[in-house]
Amino acid sequence: MKVYRNVRSLAKKVSEIKRLNDTVGLVPTMGFLHEGHISLIRKARKDMDHVIVSIFVNPTQFGPGEDFKKYPRDLKRDLDICRKEGADIVFVPKAKDIYPDGYSTYISVRGITEKLCGASRPGHFRGVATVVAKLFNITAPDIAYFGQKDAQQAIIIKKMAEDLNMRVKVKVMPVVREKNGLAMSSRNVYLSRRERIQAQSIYRALRLAKELFHGGEKDSGIIINKMKRVIGKQAETKIDYIKVVGIKNLEDVKKISRGSLVAIAAWVGKTRLIDNVILN
Ligand code: AMP
Repeated sequence: MKVYRNVRSLAKKVSEIKRLNDTVGLVPTMGFLHEGHISLIRKARKDMDHVIVSIFVNPTQFGPGEDFKKYPRDLKRDLDICRKEGADIVFVPKAKDIYPDGYSTYISVRGITEKLCGASRPGHFRGVATVVAKLFNITAPDIAYFGQKDAQQAIIIKKMAEDLNMRVKVKVMPVVREKNGLAMSSRNVYLSRRERIQAQSIYRALRLAKELFHGGEKDSGIIINKMKRVIGKQAETKIDYIKVVGIKNLEDVKKISRGSLVAIAAWVGKTRLIDNVILN
């Protein structure tokens, strides 16, 4: 495994790989790796000749007052995990290399970026789309691997790749959860023991949505209200949104059909967590 710390040296390496006609899989991450990330690395390892993991806490996707500075980081541990999982290349760029002085190009995927998390985190997905487009250009992956945990992000990246005729296939892998149902997230380390227990109500509410839907309930309003009650019972949780939306356009769905996305964002103490399920 080789660690690349600047764009130019990695781009050179990628050109060499491409000359051999080998396939490249990219797993973009912000590090502090957990089983969710590992599931993506494993899938890439299974599918592709070369696996590149990027680790970059991308400043442009954090809003003012968000947790950019205190976002958890542990490069040594991350590199150990990447090595163990058989990654070939780990890309750990400096912010200055990704956004040099005078940097001025941003990608805005209209519409779907303004909904769900985009409504509470303005500019977030512009930062995400921009950095992912740059990572695609630097690493020229045949397949890029994303997690369903960040469902909106995956939808936006797919749309960007399609709209801009990027030569990459975007694969989305299922949400990896703790035994208690809590979706794995680097941000879970912020949670106190008490908050961690309260955070489990997020997946409980999503499971309730599934049960209600399978029991014949198709009215999203009724389902959302029942979900709100599950999370609302927890003293330290505050719902940002609970929505049932179409999987492509992220528009609110009133009468639920198969394939609708139920998405939640909630504050547990000072930590904002997201999770979702697809009804099918
Ligand atoms: P992050 O480091 O949080 O930006 O995540 C990097 C990638 O890992 C994204 O594509 C995420 O959707 C994915 N990911 C994060 N958590 C999980 C999880 N619990 N299950 C599956 N994928 C995940």
